[in-house]
Amino acid sequence: MNKFEYLEKYDYEQIVYVQEKKSGLKAIICVHDTTLGPALGGTRMWAYEHEDDALLDGLRLSRGMTYKNAAMGLNLGGGKTVIIGDAREDKNEEMFRAFGRYVDSLGGRYITAEDVGINTSDMLHVKEETDYVGGLPGLSGDPSPFTAYGTYCGMKAAANKAYGSDSLEGKKVVIQGVGHVGYYLAKHLHEEGAEIVVADLYEDNLKRVVNDFGVEVVDPDTIYGVDCDIFAPTALGAIVNDEALEVLKCDVIAGAANNQLKDPEKHGKLLEEKGMVYAPDYVINGGGVINVAEEFNSNGYNAERATRKVETIYDKIQRVFEIAQRDNIPTYKAADVMAEERINKLSKLNSIRKPNK
Ligand code: NAD
Repeated sequence: MNKFEYLEKYDYEQIVYVQEKKSGLKAIICVHDTTLGPALGGTRMWAYEHEDDALLDGLRLSRGMTYKNAAMGLNLGGGKTVIIGDAREDKNEEMFRAFGRYVDSLGGRYITAEDVGINTSDMLHVKEETDYVGGLPGLSGDPSPFTAYGTYCGMKAAANKAYGSDSLEGKKVVIQGVGHVGYYLAKHLHEEGAEIVVADLYEDNLKRVVNDFGVEVVDPDTIYGVDCDIFAPTALGAIVNDEALEVLKCDVIAGAANNQLKDPEKHGKLLEEKGMVYAPDYVINGGGVINVAEEFNSNGYNAERATRKVETIYDKIQRVFEIAQRDNIPTYKAADVMAEERINKLSKLNSIRKPNK
């Protein structure tokens, strides 16, 4: 991989390699863009086979955070850290203390949080060394209920586009995956009177939604073929692919899973041709990051304020549809345009010098 060529192509600001021999820390902090504010993005720990795989993952994810944070209207840029190692075997307190010192050394250019392989006790070690860390217990807490509520609000906006009404009462909604987010999504839909069909791999997760909301359960392999109004991918990425599009029978795709389109260019276009309304993943699932960002509000964290902000995902999804229509582009592209427009507008503002800065 020609690193500088790649960094230049997507205009990354800074990549920081850090290591601490005794603890085994090997991490790459990627800061993609800080036009809007400090780069916020979680830390992922994964046993990458090659160093370059870790770098590429960090680069892609940090750039994704720039778009997500911009689309959510946050005054935050995009960043991400990858720690190379097995999250079940290689962790120790010193590793996260050392990592915290490195984060602190960036002076607030980068703010970290949890991601795959990292838990709150790891982040509490990081917090011992730096204030540039979010998603801690006692503050914003578990992001899943906020992600689910934002997804529900975005789904209503997508329903409005498809049916001319945002009511989900009586709508048949299929939820693929009823884990942390899927459970709360089912709760909101149940409260509004939607007809819910679900699939999951875990019996206990299924039992919970059947007992609490009386949903119908289908096999994970047959879920794509269920005749429904709305399909909500809430488990895996890349589920909008050639095979699924042959059998999917829905008007709307609106769910919380990341990277839903296997090949965005191809499958985003196919969705358009089939007349399906697609609510872009990183816009509809941004409720969790809105909630974490509230920890850095100068007035302190407030769950009620976070919830009101999460509700604006309805307007953000509507804006995506407007841009798609205005520019005659698929909605997944319109989401990028919405994020880029905000960054570009504010980068012009940033050229106005503030006194004593
Ligand atoms: P989770 O692991 O708690 O739940 C995922 C569920 O999907 C599990 O119950 C799992 O058994 C099920 N599943 C896996 N493969 C399946 C299959 N083939 N068919 C049916 N079910 C299957 O994860 P989560 O936190 O609920 O997140 C769900 C999705 O939303 C993920 O793609 C995640 O990246 C995305 N997301 C989550 C958050 C958040 O706040 N948790 C924020 C943004 C995006």
